[in-house]
Amino acid sequence: MEGHVHFEDLNIEYGYSCMPERLHYYSNEENDFRMEVRKWCKENVEPVIEKIDRERNYELVVEILRKMKPYLNIIIPEEAGGLGKGVLYRTIFGEELTAFNYALASTFGASSCLFAGPVIEFGTPEQKKKFLSGIADGTKIGAIGVTEPTGGSDAIGGMKLKAKREGDHYILNGEKCFITNGSVADYICLYAITNDKVKPHQGMTAFIFETDTPGFEVIKDYKHLGRRGMPNSHLRFNNCKVSVENVLHKENVGLDVLLFGLDGERTFTASQYLGISRSAFEVAYKYAHRRMQFKRPLYSFEGISFKLSEMFMSIELNRMAVTQIARMLDDGHYCRASVAAIKARLADDSVKTTQEAIQIVGGLGYTEEYPLERYYRDAKVGQISAGTAEIMRYLISREMIRMWGK
Ligand SMILES: Cc1cc2nc3c(=O)[nH]c(=O)nc-3n(C[C@H](O)[C@H](O)[C@H](O)COP(=O)(O)OP(=O)(O)OC[C@H]3O[C@@H](n4cnc5c(N)ncnc54)[C@H](O)[C@@H]3O)c2cc1C
Repeated sequence: MEGHVHFEDLNIEYGYSCMPERLHYYSNEENDFRMEVRKWCKENVEPVIEKIDRERNYELVVEILRKMKPYLNIIIPEEAGGLGKGVLYRTIFGEELTAFNYALASTFGASSCLFAGPVIEFGTPEQKKKFLSGIADGTKIGAIGVTEPTGGSDAIGGMKLKAKREGDHYILNGEKCFITNGSVADYICLYAITNDKVKPHQGMTAFIFETDTPGFEVIKDYKHLGRRGMPNSHLRFNNCKVSVENVLHKENVGLDVLLFGLDGERTFTASQYLGISRSAFEVAYKYAHRRMQFKRPLYSFEGISFKLSEMFMSIELNRMAVTQIARMLDDGHYCRASVAAIKARLADDSVKTTQEAIQIVGGLGYTEEYPLERYYRDAKVGQISAGTAEIMRYLISREMIRMWGK
């Protein structure tokens, strides 16, 4: 083989190319689920992967999300029309879907995990019935609203969105920014300050906010470096009237809801970083075997094959860790430091893996002929969203003191 090796020549098959169909650390049922999801993605997502990114086409993303009916309900309880599966299943789904398209997977995650997760855990039977069945069948879209212009990493300390109680309802005023699905969501798991006489973490409440409430306004959708096609919005709440029936859990204990939700969110995002790393690895691995330089395939040079070994080390070991942490969460164990650790490790590794994949492919890897530039752009946000790389380390340092003292 001589000359340039084009992407089409590699016959990439997202996941099939460099991964066994059955992994021994999954049960038969979990392995079957993984393969079923992959097949679904191949049929429904693969044909539009590039279109979503190039056109920043979030109408298309929402259209596919609604079609994702067999999977939207993975974690939704059976009584609300779901499959009642746990965290592990959604990490399998997260990895597989992200291996095809990160923007779509994030849209799914915000709705079916980040919105639905806390409602499943803390919602009343009426709230579950009312707000989860639409998420499970794709007629409704969810989001999570924490971040504000004044509260990014210090989300709670800087929270200015106020919810003032007036009889049997609250009046909400303030803003949220960077909200994934914000402009297309029907419901937002929204955090607001309900008692400003105490420290913010003692006076914060979680609400199920319905976006058809008068006074709700989408200020703008952001344009990102990566994850193009994922709606991500700046929102304003002007005297929005929300019923007490929409309080999730109880007034002023929103911190419990938030921390629970973040553990689930970070485990899901870790599985996404795995998916993007795997796709980059597959391309680089196949390319290295086909591209000839110095009359030999690139793979025969240790400078290249060792890079691929490093990628394998990261993907293989991190997948095992994600799987184990997801099982611990499913079994009800407290493992906040482990969740932060895998989230931070995988976010960094996925940036490195996608970057090294471009390095292996060289000039072509830097062009839009290959999907690697997309993977690299997509991966970067892992070190920012769902808690930055620095904040994960801060959280771990706090948890170490909690676990072992000083
Ligand atoms: C694509 C995308 C999707 C998102 N989706 C959502 C969503 O659905 N819902 C939602 O609520 N939010 C969402 N976010 C917001 C995200 O969680 C915040 O961007 C993130 O928490 C960081 O906040 P910030 O951007 O204000 O940065 P800042 O907090 O201003 O931080 C800037 C830099 O300073 C560092 N820093 C801050 N404090 C410290 C410290 N104490 N020690 C060391 N370093 C520090 C940070 O790590 C970072 O590198 C999303 C963001 C993006 C980019």
